[in-house]
Amino acid sequence: MTDPTDRLSLYRRFRPQRFGEIVGQDLLVATLRRAVAGGKLTHAYLLSGQRGVGKTSVARILARAVNCLALEDGEPCNRCASCCRILAGQSLDVVEIDGASNRGVDQIRRLREEVAYVPAGSQRKVYIIDEVHMLTGEAFNALLKTLEEPPPHILFIFATTEPHKVPATVISRCQAFEFQPIGESAIARVLHTIAQAEGIALAPTAADLIARRSRGALRDALVVLDQLGHAGEVTEEAVVELLGLPPLSQVDGFLDALAGRDADGALAIVADLSARGRDLALFLEEAASQARDRIISGQSTLLPIAQRLIELRGELGRAFSRRLHVELALVALCGPPQKREPLAPSVQTEVAALPLDTPPAAPPQEQPPRATAPASEAKPTGPQGTAWEAMIEAVFAERVSVAAFLYPAEATWADGLLTIRLPADCGYHYESLRDPAVHGYVEAVAHRFFDPLLTVQLAWAGGNQKPTLEEGARILAEALEGTILREGNNGNR
Ligand SMILES: [Zn+2]
Repeated sequence: MTDPTDRLSLYRRFRPQRFGEIVGQDLLVATLRRAVAGGKLTHAYLLSGQRGVGKTSVARILARAVNCLALEDGEPCNRCASCCRILAGQSLDVVEIDGASNRGVDQIRRLREEVAYVPAGSQRKVYIIDEVHMLTGEAFNALLKTLEEPPPHILFIFATTEPHKVPATVISRCQAFEFQPIGESAIARVLHTIAQAEGIALAPTAADLIARRSRGALRDALVVLDQLGHAGEVTEEAVVELLGLPPLSQVDGFLDALAGRDADGALAIVADLSARGRDLALFLEEAASQARDRIISGQSTLLPIAQRLIELRGELGRAFSRRLHVELALVALCGPPQKREPLAPSVQTEVAALPLDTPPAAPPQEQPPRATAPASEAKPTGPQGTAWEAMIEAVFAERVSVAAFLYPAEATWADGLLTIRLPADCGYHYESLRDPAVHGYVEAVAHRFFDPLLTVQLAWAGGNQKPTLEEGARILAEALEGTILREGNNGNR
């Protein structure tokens, strides 16, 4: 009887059946209820808003309410013959049409013929057209003819996630309601109520996290609860795992790094996320939300950082290389990196295997500066390390994008040759630095910090892959500096 694989989803079982059960759309629901109670309905309603906020539920409640034989203050009773027929999907007078799959003029013509007939057993014949913006132009024209002279027994309820795609001529004949994204606290409350009813132990932090990640769509939140609730217990860790979110400790570490202007720490986390194929956009969203929580609890220094994180999240859609874009922003936010993390062993191997026609660097020069040593202090064991850091700092002050291209590199200096080695995942950085103008600039700066006669050589551990990111590097460089760093390889600038 209760085969768990066969059971209805939580969302369907807990679908609101009365206006009073609709969450987060109070004003709109009150208006509709008053109209029903006062018999002041128009012939067409347009319900717009993002997915999962209750448009279809409201449309169905309205369809029952206008036909209910025992209205209760504008609410359908859900018990009379009419309500029962509609709830069972057996009413001929409530027709649901999916605009996405019935887009054409033929369907709408058939609808127009039908609407001429009086309802089979109800007061009103109700057409619910979901995703109405998907209808074709001809279908809209056909619909418009009906809307211009609607038979008195007809009620149209249009729902759409994209109201801007609905012709103005149609909208002007509807009473329009805009659904709001549902607030996080309201979603969390619903999750707790349903979890309690279902005997699921839902951790408050898990509920908050689900609510935050569902972006105002209650349905999405219930789908997550449904997926995790089978075990009878929903923990924050399970939510993190299911949604592919970064661990909270990592987000915390990231914010600590930003607050402390520790570019190295922040960049190391970005590198780790990239290495694990994590979604940087999702990470930034989490970081921004967590920053907000910290600001609320008094850490006001995070305010500009949170604002930048939100902007940065918005910029990622346009960024050619998300990782580089984030790295640049972090360097701009924190100041230039002070020290370098050693490369991952696999990358080191690749670098070592590079077919470079350079003399092997002396071992002490290969050592990355120790993480505990402040970079500003002169270190007798690795003077060239200090010079390299000072050089990046100078480049940062002059051309921030070039500094970002240089940041992931390992530099070694021997016999008048400075070798700048980029790890395998930095083909984009490598290509950008290879540009004659950029190369010339880097060499000129290097002359100031190393040896006035030195030559700069670039190497990339991704050796035999062909980077296809040159164009993107140019676009990004232009956007960053307002100057064209690359104009082909002719150096004609
Ligand atoms: Zn009823």
